[in-house]
Amino acid sequence: MTDIVVIGGGASGLTAAIYAKKYAPEAKIMIAEKLQRTGKKIIAAGNGKCNLSNIDLSDQHYHGTVDAMRIICSMPDYKKYFTDELGVICTLGSEGRTGGVYPRSNSSATVLSALRLKLKRLGVEERCDCEIRAIKPVKGGFILSAKDEEIRCRKVIVAAGGYAGPSFGTDGSMLRVLKEMGYTAGKICPAVAPLKVSPEDVKGLKGVRVKGTVSAVSGGKILRTENGELQFNENNISGICVFNLAYLYQRYEGRLKLRMDLYPEAEKAELTEYLNIIKKQRRDLPAEELLTGLFVRNLAVYIMKKASADKNARTISQLTGNETAKAAELIKSLEINVIGCSGWQNAQVTMGGIESSCIDDELQSKLHRGMYFCGEILDTAGDCGGYNLQFAWSSGMLAGMRCGESLKGGKNDQSK
Ligand SMILES: Cc1cc2nc3c(=O)[nH]c(=O)nc-3n(C[C@H](O)[C@H](O)[C@H](O)COP(=O)(O)OP(=O)(O)OC[C@H]3O[C@@H](n4cnc5c(N)ncnc54)[C@H](O)[C@@H]3O)c2cc1C
Repeated sequence: MTDIVVIGGGASGLTAAIYAKKYAPEAKIMIAEKLQRTGKKIIAAGNGKCNLSNIDLSDQHYHGTVDAMRIICSMPDYKKYFTDELGVICTLGSEGRTGGVYPRSNSSATVLSALRLKLKRLGVEERCDCEIRAIKPVKGGFILSAKDEEIRCRKVIVAAGGYAGPSFGTDGSMLRVLKEMGYTAGKICPAVAPLKVSPEDVKGLKGVRVKGTVSAVSGGKILRTENGELQFNENNISGICVFNLAYLYQRYEGRLKLRMDLYPEAEKAELTEYLNIIKKQRRDLPAEELLTGLFVRNLAVYIMKKASADKNARTISQLTGNETAKAAELIKSLEINVIGCSGWQNAQVTMGGIESSCIDDELQSKLHRGMYFCGEILDTAGDCGGYNLQFAWSSGMLAGMRCGESLKGGKNDQSK
């Protein structure tokens, strides 16, 4: 019988296996991975560069019932793990202002290879093309049903991820299995994802990118504000700043707006003054040229269409004071209703997952002792910027450590 089976060979599962072996060196440990190879999502992370952590780790970057920061703070940090234990040198990303940490090689493959080399040296088996479809708790352990076999084990670590990025093996099927076993997973929704808007509301803006601030607003209340580049598409708005607001859709569905400030450098009064100067300079040009010195043409035209009361062709000098004021108002506070969150294919993270009420502080199930959880399958979603991988590593360490310890009859073993 296998001592520990880790279900899922992603960031959290590979780490859980390393830590389980560290705390139970004699144990027979196996990773059961559904795809033909482990770590496919690690390779895709950070556009192939793997934004593996962030130097600005705090509660405000995590959302959900599981206390991510408690887990992260209780485990070795990224330097200790990657450099001291795995031999991977890390560095701040070129966009260092966001605090993102990357491998010095700038290549995700370095990270995955280091993890796999470690597992090989530790003697952990990676069994690919092995999808676990059911988990049956039995006396002394578990029976896991795979495609063509049943695997018996004493302990199990569930690291099968959520719904986000189905092409990387995560289609939520394990969460469905767990729900049938009695686990609660709350409302599931894509996070770190574009937000859907009506095509009519962004007509003409497809392909526009503009730096600004964006707030998620509900019932007139600002819920959160982010800075960065906004990207307009046919039926959604994206960009890291929008990705970081997507988790709010789960809570404010149907009541969420994006309020954008497209010129945060100036207050409205200053901007209006600036527009009045342009009005004098460009007085004989068509009205739609008022903002073409400030924004790319499509955005400039979009705003002027909304600001103009009279749709007939006019010159800039014919614009009324109210229309100029409206243009300034729209630039500082353009509001667009959110009508949905983009599909799982475009999402990087799953909001929702196994809730904190189902697990103890050591990530062991309260329903089935001997069963542990780590990574995205848990109810916590981090912001974009290395927060999700950091949670995957840290929760993998904790689950692996406690599961390994429990084999030796550690304080947490209640499954004997
Ligand atoms: C395109 C993309 C880019 C990203 N970039 C970053 C980034 O740069 N920085 C960052 O912090 N986060 C990033 N994320 C998010 C981050 O990658 C994930 O949150 C993290 O990898 C989750 O790790 P995990 O081990 O919990 O789950 P996953 O990495 O999703 O791994 C779960 C594994 O379990 C396997 N599996 C699923 N079901 C079963 C089953 N029934 N039986 C056996 N195996 C199963 C899957 O095939 C998969 O290999 C990105 C996500 C995506 C989609």
